[in-house]
Amino acid sequence: MITETDELMACSRAHIAACPTCTAVFTLHRSPTPHMDECGFESYTIECSQCGTTLSSIVDPTDETLLVSEVAAYNDVIKSRQVA
Ligand SMILES: [Zn+2]
Repeated sequence: MITETDELMACSRAHIAACPTCTAVFTLHRSPTPHMDECGFESYTIECSQCGTTLSSIVDPTDETLLVSEVAAYNDVIKSRQVA
């Protein structure tokens, strides 16, 4: 049996995210056992169903905001730092 509280809880774990590349909007359902990155952020790797871009997203622990960035762009930053 699903109570109203359960539904509210499930709702608060779902985030609306927008692809920074093509601005497609999709819903990210947060995992009860999320992957934590090296900085201690709850992180997800998602693929945009619209343009296929691989996106990296983290949940800001201070206000639960979902931050989405393009993995390729992030890797480019890393590469350019290694070259320099
Ligand atoms: Zn996209």
